[in-house]
Amino acid sequence: MDRRIYGIETEFGITHSVSQGHSLGADETARRLFAPVLAWGRASNVFLPNGGRLYLDVGSHPEYASAETASLQDVVAQDMAGELIVDDLRQQLQQELVEDGTGGTVHLFKNNVDSAGNSYGSHENYMISRRTEYARLVQVLIPFLVTRQILVGAGRVHPNGPADFGGLTLGDGSHGPSYSFSQRADHIWEGSSSATTRSRPMINTRDEPHADAEHYRRLHVINGDSSMSQTTTALKIGTTDLMLRMIEAGKILPDRTLADPAAALRIVSHDLTGRAQLELASGETMSAVDLQLEYVQAVTHFVERHGAHHDRVDWVLELWERGLRAVAEQRFDLVDTELDWAIKKKLLDSYASSHGMDYANPRLLQLDFAYHDTSPTHGLFRMLSRRGAVATFVADDAAQAAVMHPPATRASLRGKFIRAVLDAGENYTVDWVHLKLNGSHNQRTVMCKDPFATSQPDADELIAEVRAMAAS
Ligand code: ATP
Ligand code: MG
Ligand code: MG
Repeated sequence: MDRRIYGIETEFGITHSVSQGHSLGADETARRLFAPVLAWGRASNVFLPNGGRLYLDVGSHPEYASAETASLQDVVAQDMAGELIVDDLRQQLQQELVEDGTGGTVHLFKNNVDSAGNSYGSHENYMISRRTEYARLVQVLIPFLVTRQILVGAGRVHPNGPADFGGLTLGDGSHGPSYSFSQRADHIWEGSSSATTRSRPMINTRDEPHADAEHYRRLHVINGDSSMSQTTTALKIGTTDLMLRMIEAGKILPDRTLADPAAALRIVSHDLTGRAQLELASGETMSAVDLQLEYVQAVTHFVERHGAHHDRVDWVLELWERGLRAVAEQRFDLVDTELDWAIKKKLLDSYASSHGMDYANPRLLQLDFAYHDTSPTHGLFRMLSRRGAVATFVADDAAQAAVMHPPATRASLRGKFIRAVLDAGENYTVDWVHLKLNGSHNQRTVMCKDPFATSQPDADELIAEVRAMAAS
C-alpha cells in the first residue's frame, strides 16, 4: 500500500506525591484527572474534536488514541497533541489540589514502566491490505520488531542490572547497574496472540480493522516504547511502514524467524553493543545490528526500484542507517539529539559524571522518570526541547494546532460532527467508524468505512443538518 493509515495509542503513568502526609493512590488520581472529561462528555471514554479518543479503562492509566492519520508529519503532531491534552488535565488537577488543600504534585509520565515495575503500553496501528497473507507478514515482521529497539527504544536505567530471566545472560552478565535500549522489552512474552495484557505479545491479532474488512486489516503492534522525541516517533512509524510496504509488495526476504522472540527482545534490549548473537530458528545466529542492516539495505533497494511513496522516505532511510552506525561503531553522539534512548543516556551520563555517581544511584532512576514527565516545567525532555537541544520533525505550532484540528482523513468528518453536535447540544455517539445522532426525533447513523475519506455525501449531509440545528 502506498498510502497508509497510522494511529498511536499511548497509556500514561500517573502519580501523586506529597512531602508530608497522605498521597492519593494512582486510581484516585486518575479518576480525579478525568473529572473534567466526565463533565464535558458525560463519560470517561470520549472522542475529541481533533478526532482522537481519550479514555480511562479500569485501572489507573489514562489513554489517548490518536486520530487516524495518513502521513508521518500528522502522526507525530497528533501523538504530541495527546500529550498536551492529557497534561492540560494534569495542570487542572494540580490547581485543584492546591485549592482544596491536598497539595503535593501530580506527575504524568509518557513512559512504559512505573517505579513498581508495572508496564503499560504504546500501541501502533497500521492499516494493511487484506490481500497480504497475514501469517507471513507477522513472521517476517517479528524479527524486525524485536531488533528495531536499538533505534527507537526509549532507554531505561536498571540500578541493579537486568532482571533475571531464567538463565539468560543479559548485558555484560555482571548484574551491575546498567542501561537498556527499551522500556518495554522485559515485559513482552510472546510473538503474536489475541491477548493484550495476560500474555503480552508483540502483535495483537484481534481482527478489528476499523475500515472495510473485505479489503483491509489493522496491524496492532503492541511491543513498542512510547516516544518523547518527534524524530523517534517518525522513525518508528516510518521504518515499520517501509517494511510493510515491501512485504505487501511480495518481496521475498531471507527467513530470519527467531528461535525465541521474547528472549531475543531482552537480549537485544540489554546489549548496548548491538552485537549479541541471537539464535534463529534455522540454527544460524545473527546480531541486532546485522539484522537491521539487512532490513535497511533491502528497503533501500526496494525504494530504488519502486520509488519513494512520500516526501520523508529519504529522511527515514538516512536516520535508520545512521542509527545503526551509531550502535555498530559505539558512536552514540551520531544520534543523541534524535533517538530517545541516546538523548536520555547523554543527559544521564553527563549528570552522573559531573556528580561522581553511577547508575546504581537512585537519583539517576529519578532522572530517567523525569525525562518522560509531560510537565513543561518539570519534564527533562520538555526542557531540552525548549532549549532547542533536540531535533524536531514538525513545525513548532503543529502539536498545538493538532489539539483542536483533526488530520486530513476520516477523522476530519468525526471532528466536524462532534463540533456540530456539541454546538447544537444534541446527544450523539461516535466510534472510529460511526457517526450517530441520537436526537429526540431525529436519529441517524452514518458509517464511514473509508478512513482516507475527508468527505462523504451522507456524512457531509448529516454534519450540515446538525449545523443548521445549532444555528436555529
Ligand atoms: P485497545 O485499547 O484495547 O488496544 P484498540 O486498539 O482496538 O483497543 P483504540 O484504543 O480505540 O482501540 O485505538 C484504535 C487506534 O486505531 C487509534 O489510534 C486509531 O487512530 C487507529 N485506527 C483507526 N482506524 C484505523 C484503520 N482503519 N487502520 C489502522 N488504524 C486505525
Ligand atoms: Mg487503546
Ligand atoms: Mg490498542
